[in-house]
Amino acid sequence: MNAEIISVGTELLLGQVVNTDAAIVAQELSALGISLLHTSVVGDNPQRLKDAVETALARSDLLIMTGGLGPTTDDLTKETTAAAAGKKLVLHPESLDRIKNYFNGALMTPNQEKQAWLPEGCTVLQNDNGTAPGCAFTAENGCVVIMLPGPPSELAPMLKNRAVPFLRQLQDSVIVSHNIHIYGLGEAPVAQIMDDCMDGENPTLAPYAKEGECMLRVTAKAQTPEAADRLCQPLMEEIFRRLGAYIYSVDVETLEEVVVAELAAHGKTLAVAESCTGGLLAKRITDVPGASQVFQMGCVTYANAAKEALLFVPHETLEAHGAVSEETARAMAEGIVRRAGSDIGVGITGIAGPDGGTAEKPVGTIYIALSDGRQTWVAKRAPIGRTKSRDWHRHCAASQALDMVRRYVLGLDVLPKP
Ligand code: ATP
Ligand code: MG
Repeated sequence: MNAEIISVGTELLLGQVVNTDAAIVAQELSALGISLLHTSVVGDNPQRLKDAVETALARSDLLIMTGGLGPTTDDLTKETTAAAAGKKLVLHPESLDRIKNYFNGALMTPNQEKQAWLPEGCTVLQNDNGTAPGCAFTAENGCVVIMLPGPPSELAPMLKNRAVPFLRQLQDSVIVSHNIHIYGLGEAPVAQIMDDCMDGENPTLAPYAKEGECMLRVTAKAQTPEAADRLCQPLMEEIFRRLGAYIYSVDVETLEEVVVAELAAHGKTLAVAESCTGGLLAKRITDVPGASQVFQMGCVTYANAAKEALLFVPHETLEAHGAVSEETARAMAEGIVRRAGSDIGVGITGIAGPDGGTAEKPVGTIYIALSDGRQTWVAKRAPIGRTKSRDWHRHCAASQALDMVRRYVLGLDVLPKP
């Protein structure tokens, strides 16, 4: 099924409103496995809208219109589209009652009634968050047409709760996708390792780069979700065989969610000592509901004096090796375990930039240590390639620390073998 979206509104053409409706619709279509081939924007002009609708009806199996269903004279999506599709508008009494109820005795202007006029024989898509109902119908030439209101707060729930079930009925197959999240290998090496699996048709396999990590998406199409899932399984097993410990989750979006869940599952507690990440690691961990079960404390120790006072980092270590060093990171991780009495401690120290780099320790040099009070592991991040932002370095350092915690808790090598 080939789909297309037409978003209606002069404000979109003027750049006053960003076309988020089209993005919301595109994401739902993709999840349904419907191919979206065209997206366009047309102003509130009947002739140009008529031309766009006629083109769409002729080349697409599904046309989704957004915006212009409201009560005012510039809202002309329904009239224009229905006419182009060979449909009359008729009064839908139930929708009129809903609109009247919506106003609940408050002043309802006569033009509000216009919204209850819908293409004859259509499926009405009730608006639970506003007045203008949406609708779905089949045009004379067989193209399925769906109209949704412009305000995203009305469009998103109507799409999800009313239009998607309608579209599912039309489809004879379902799509199932699994996202395999990977840390410690980039998109290119992952694609290389999985190269011979990349041109399958059902399931398909596609790599995606994420900030400092990457993801593989396995997608299959079948009659039922269970059958589609069964198609995915052998490929997923092969991915696990090849990438093993680099995979941190299937269908769980973030490292921090995985870390909190694994710490809880293994009954371990964590405390962190941060310098260059400035609390970002603690923030990401505490973003996860339930983090209080496993997270004990975070210290942001920027100054050397704070590292000494709060984390017991020896003055001599800082003097001899500097604040950004393997030795200091190690002492920070060991110190926070002592300070918090936690099972695991993490220490991060580095140069996030843009200033402060030297030839010996360029911007992006970051040491990350993990200690369990008996043994301590230290990873060094060294900058490669083009200059990255301060945010990038901080985010990636926090991610690497999270991955080290994950590996430790699961009994894997804390530092992946090169
Ligand atoms: P209303 O009943 O509010 O008039 P409508 O269906 O007629 O709804 P429009 O008049 O086209 O929709 O748009 C109403 C508002 O919805 C716009 O001012 C804009 O803020 C938002 N909107 C419209 N189209 C889009 C879009 N494609 N993406 C994001 N927002 C949009
Ligand atoms: Mg309007």
